[in-house]
Amino acid sequence: MSDKKCKVLIIGSGPAGYTASIYAARAGLGPVQVTGMELGGQLMSTTDVENYPGFEEVVQGPWLMEQMKKQAENVGVEIIYEMITQVDFSKKPFRCTSETTTYLADAVIISTGAKARWLGLETEKKFQGFGVSACATCDGFFFKGKEVLIVGGGNTAVEEALYMTNHASKVTIVHRRDSFRAEKILQEKLFNHPKITVIWDSVVDEILGTENPKSVNAVKLRNIKTNGVQEVPVEGVFVAIGHDPATGVFKGHIDLDEEGYMKVAAGTTRTNVEGVFAAGDVQDKIYRQAITAAGQGCMAALDVEKYLQE
Ligand SMILES: Cc1cc2nc3c(=O)[nH]c(=O)nc-3n(C[C@H](O)[C@H](O)[C@H](O)COP(=O)(O)OP(=O)(O)OC[C@H]3O[C@@H](n4cnc5c(N)ncnc54)[C@H](O)[C@@H]3O)c2cc1C
Repeated sequence: MSDKKCKVLIIGSGPAGYTASIYAARAGLGPVQVTGMELGGQLMSTTDVENYPGFEEVVQGPWLMEQMKKQAENVGVEIIYEMITQVDFSKKPFRCTSETTTYLADAVIISTGAKARWLGLETEKKFQGFGVSACATCDGFFFKGKEVLIVGGGNTAVEEALYMTNHASKVTIVHRRDSFRAEKILQEKLFNHPKITVIWDSVVDEILGTENPKSVNAVKLRNIKTNGVQEVPVEGVFVAIGHDPATGVFKGHIDLDEEGYMKVAAGTTRTNVEGVFAAGDVQDKIYRQAITAAGQGCMAALDVEKYLQE
């Protein structure tokens, strides 16, 4: 185990992490960035990205993240492919430890992101990016005039169903219980919407589709009370059953909210530990976009710069 000193350590290599490292490098802070096992973050698992500004045409998620990585390397960021498995923020310099190294940092930016929860079906994996998505804001546009299914019963599911009425010709929402957990006002909007149908007490058993071209054309739903199975024709499936922020390693070291997201002071990226900052999906359960994560990465680097000057 070796020690490595740095002014600022950035944990994570999604849009938040890369933006933070680019800004920190350009501020002369010599950042070290530890990428985690998912080099490039969540966008590595998607295909078309059409809402990240700056590109005339649709770009591919992995390509976009490769550009961010190259940009970070070009401005001198030291990128290390490792996982932080232990932290100690009780004294300065802060200690963040991987399998091989203990990083001793004057400031830390945590941008470890979040993971969408999936149903765990084989056919869901097969059609991910080809009709199956976990983000209506990101992919809804690709389903203009098509019939889609939303899976879930919380605020996100109901919001995604309402959002999809802007694009889809018909929206079906399936929930495994007989009532939603979502706020009442959202539920009212949903029940009154002419494009939305609700299927209660049911789960998705299988997503059906074609191989060539790879696309979804129906779902098999099973009623958990009657065991009856029905096939619903849809071209898109949006799984909206929640997200898990990647904060396990920070539990007990940084204040987290009841869902495990990092708490930050409003309008900043400051956590409760002075000198430790959080940016991107790890602290944001509302917007969850590449551009907002990148924006928060920028904020974190500026917050660090100010902190180190002080
Ligand atoms: C399928 C899909 C499609 C999407 N499409 C779009 C889209 O079209 N447009 C859009 O704007 N957004 C889209 N999003 C959302 C977008 O990807 C996220 O909002 C964004 O990636 C969040 O960035 P982030 O940097 O906060 O975290 P993430 O991208 O989640 O990256 C987290 C990083 O932290 C690292 N990490 C985690 N734990 C550790 C650890 N212990 N040590 C070191 N590193 C660690 C991981 O390896 C990863 O590099 C999509 C998301 C998904 C899942």
